[in-house]
Amino acid sequence: MAGFVPAPEENQQIVPRNQRLRSLPSVDRVLNAPELSGLVGQYGAQACKLAAQGELARLRKALRDGDGDAEALVSGADFQDRLYAAVRRKLVAEFSASLKPVFNLSGTVVHTNLGRSALPAEAVEAMATAAGACNLEYDLEAGHRGDRDHHLEATLCELTGAEAATVVNNNAAAVLLVLNTLATGREVVISRGELVEIGGSFRMPEIMQSANCILRETGTTNRTHLRDYENAINKRTALLMKVHTSNYEVRGFTNSVSGQELSQLARENGLPFVHDLGSGTLVDLVRYGLPHEPTVNEVLAEGVDLVTFSGDKLLGGPQAGIIVGGRELVDRVRRNPLKRALRVDKISIAALREVLNLYKDPQRLSSRLPMLADLTRSAAEILALGERLLKPVAEAFGPAACVALTECKSQIGSGALPLERLESTALQLTPIAEKGGKDAALQRLAGRLRELPRPVIGRIRDGSLLLDLRCLRDEERFLAQLRESAPLA
Ligand SMILES: *Cc1c(COP(=O)(O)O)cnc(C)c1O
Repeated sequence: MAGFVPAPEENQQIVPRNQRLRSLPSVDRVLNAPELSGLVGQYGAQACKLAAQGELARLRKALRDGDGDAEALVSGADFQDRLYAAVRRKLVAEFSASLKPVFNLSGTVVHTNLGRSALPAEAVEAMATAAGACNLEYDLEAGHRGDRDHHLEATLCELTGAEAATVVNNNAAAVLLVLNTLATGREVVISRGELVEIGGSFRMPEIMQSANCILRETGTTNRTHLRDYENAINKRTALLMKVHTSNYEVRGFTNSVSGQELSQLARENGLPFVHDLGSGTLVDLVRYGLPHEPTVNEVLAEGVDLVTFSGDKLLGGPQAGIIVGGRELVDRVRRNPLKRALRVDKISIAALREVLNLYKDPQRLSSRLPMLADLTRSAAEILALGERLLKPVAEAFGPAACVALTECKSQIGSGALPLERLESTALQLTPIAEKGGKDAALQRLAGRLRELPRPVIGRIRDGSLLLDLRCLRDEERFLAQLRESAPLA
């Protein structure tokens, strides 16, 4: 700013503003202030310097822009204290965990935005154990290089009845890898009714393109017949594909071709047949009182050559994509150079192995696997939980919100069984509107719950915020947090 001479008519404003700018302390002075001693030891000199520079730059800009709040702050008697506090806050926020645990009371058990399946304690422990140096790709007996699939393949084969198995980063990667391995530059026949989109970015036609395959749609949206597949097969055909329409259902005048029929057609034409199962469950959920979802074993028994499915949907494990099927095809998939780019990490392998081991004891699975425990939690148990919580929660909210219990329906989520709903109970919070009307009050309330140390995520229905209690396990902590943070609305 040296040498800058303001135009005469601006003198009145700019001179005091410049004085304020000059009154800002230097970065070094801020860093050396006794009030901030300890920060450098905790966060390091570089981060502290950047935080102080950032805060001073923000103030300088605000002063130049004539921001009244900034002017008041700088001329206030407690300016230095407030500046130090801001620098400290900036550092604390920067270094605090960005991934926070939340209370998922959204009513969607496997919620993609909330990290899908909660992992069992055994898996969490195994993840920590694998964090250091480990035999990820090392054969301890032979003393030379091993294969990371080794940790999972035998168990996956045992549980699914497949000959071979391999695992990648997620199911989208599994589909991409299989298509690229078996059909690059050639045609993949798929029913028009199965060209799914999952969560915006996974769309079957685009995955085909990325895998360098040519999509050969056949049939119509609601009806596809065996003859449609027969007519679509030609000398450029590489494989037949079936995709589980996991997140929607085509109802009414419909027809699709069974896995058995397609397996047979594929065999007659010397083509592989691949089924993308999406959620992929390893046990018949009917056994736990849930709706039927095709299992990997059933699909393989139909004669499918390769099946792909997710690790963190109805399997209840970590993010992963699992490919099971015939030895020869799985080996080809493994040899694809893309496999290296899509491979799964040691932490996920450790967790997945523990989760798969739980499946070896299906009787106890619903109590040991959190995802299944939540899905099978009885309506009576959830209602009893609601009855226990009603009074203390109402007290925590005080007069600002009306708290009641209401019946609601939870959904499974992640596109699995999209039309099925599970009976549940929710705390229904209805704010007493003050400023800005009902909607604003409701948004404010939802926002307050998201700001809690362990954010509470509900869903809005008919002017109220519903907290579906199906997935609430840590009742004490939930209540303690509400009490400590009251009043909440
Ligand atoms: C969810 C899903 C995918 C993608 O799986 P991610 O594990 O989320 O990558 C692919 N296909 C189907 C049918 C799905 O349901």
